[in-house]
Amino acid sequence: MEISPSDIHLERLSIALREAEKCIPTPTAFCVGCVLATTWPPDSSSAVILATGYSRELPGNTHAEANALTKAQNLTQSDIAALFPSLDILPSIDDLLHRADVYTTMEPCSIRTSGLPPCADALIDAQIKSCYIGVGEPDDFVTCEGARKLKEAGIEVIWIKGIEEECLRVARRGH
Ligand SMILES: [Zn+2]
Repeated sequence: MEISPSDIHLERLSIALREAEKCIPTPTAFCVGCVLATTWPPDSSSAVILATGYSRELPGNTHAEANALTKAQNLTQSDIAALFPSLDILPSIDDLLHRADVYTTMEPCSIRTSGLPPCADALIDAQIKSCYIGVGEPDDFVTCEGARKLKEAGIEVIWIKGIEEECLRVARRGH
């Protein structure tokens, strides 16, 4: 599935891109940004941003998608209440993640040389709904099969068109 750049999804990917710009560049890894948005109740027409993340934001050689997931999973009930002020009954973070759209400036990784779990696996474990990607991971370090893994796990993968060069430029800062 491809979507036009005027879409709301491009707007959210732009927020992810601003997250990527916060990364401290390193020659051995990419600078990636991620936004985790969800709709709740499931029939609601507007999405709420649960968490954002960027490469190396959390301690260690951490990745954007894993960081956004960790931050979302650490939300307290009062954090969730603040995000959804009109709700009487609050959903669990797992419920919210099952409805979540993940926006990442670069294809989630499928292999990690550091021994940390790959982001694709973390997104699959969290059972997110769909993943919008700015650009495929180039073979600078490893061959990435993240998009394929997500699709095989039943997660919808959408490549956003027209922002690939910008995502790559930000990702390769410091290289
Ligand atoms: Zn990763």
